[in-house]
Amino acid sequence: MSDQQRKPRAEEYVAEGRNARGEWRPPYPIRYAPLLQWPVRLKALFKWTFGWPGFLWPVNLSLLLISIVSWYFTQPEIIRCVDFEFSWIAQIWLRNQVMMWLYYGGFHYYLYIKKGEGRNKKYDPNWPAEDSRLFLFRDQVYDNVFWTAGVAGMIWTGYEVLAMWLFANGHIPWLEWARNPIWFVAWFFIIPFWREFHFYWVHRLIHWKPLYKHVHYLHHKNKNPNAWSGMAMHPIETMLYLSVCMIHFVVPSHPIHFLFDLQHAALGPANGHHGYEGPIVKGKVPTGSYFHYLHHRYFECNYGESTIPLDRWFGTFRDGLPDGEGSKLAEEHKD
Ligand SMILES: [Zn+2]
Ligand SMILES: [Zn+2]
Repeated sequence: MSDQQRKPRAEEYVAEGRNARGEWRPPYPIRYAPLLQWPVRLKALFKWTFGWPGFLWPVNLSLLLISIVSWYFTQPEIIRCVDFEFSWIAQIWLRNQVMMWLYYGGFHYYLYIKKGEGRNKKYDPNWPAEDSRLFLFRDQVYDNVFWTAGVAGMIWTGYEVLAMWLFANGHIPWLEWARNPIWFVAWFFIIPFWREFHFYWVHRLIHWKPLYKHVHYLHHKNKNPNAWSGMAMHPIETMLYLSVCMIHFVVPSHPIHFLFDLQHAALGPANGHHGYEGPIVKGKVPTGSYFHYLHHRYFECNYGESTIPLDRWFGTFRDGLPDGEGSKLAEEHKD
């Protein structure tokens, strides 16, 4: 066994700044965005909204930029979408594959192939499982790529194809920039919150025992997630999770809002699952979600994300410190 593969001893872990089990933990607690807090802290709120990293930069605005580019440069003309035809459907599928391979693949290449950060600030000391019966093809990364790019990539495309057909045929309302500029811009701010709200409730639902047992268990095989684990989900979970975009079937919006909502949901999980505390790349790229990592590690905490304090309101928040908020929540899954 090479030195790289050998499991380090507890003392070696401690020397690396890890606990004896090898886990790397931030020395500071997870904090919620200063948005829905009382009393209002205006300065903190301003910094969170416009600062780096903050609400706008870099994640939300980069995803918005991706949506704008994909709408103007890669989207089939809406007139072609009046009938279901192979050519425009294939174009959308291919575009989504390219985006997934670049986005998820980019994190994977840098963190897990090039090992650009080594194990520095990697929450779990182990690399993705190889030769494990738990995963398809006995390999965690191959399994995750199959579910994320293969299965979720198809379901994502399916929602988009349906929506473009509905828009093209006038079956769902189309919001014009010229008529409703305020609403048009407001949508871009609303979508990240709507996503978080929807995710929390879908996630609570699939932790209901019968659904967990048959559906959500698949995502939770990834106790030690990597970038490709993001959408490694059972198809029913993927359908529920991406149903976030169905709000556009009811509330008037433009296809670009629809694209932003769905791409945000389909690409965003790479940030939440790659397993490293950001910022990465010489401390320059803010990314990562210790919040969601703790959900994978302990199951019954942190169902949502860290902007709307839903977990705190419903008593499932864990801040990550050994004796911090939520540290008494169940340690292991009860199954
Ligand atoms: Zn997850
Ligand atoms: Zn879960």
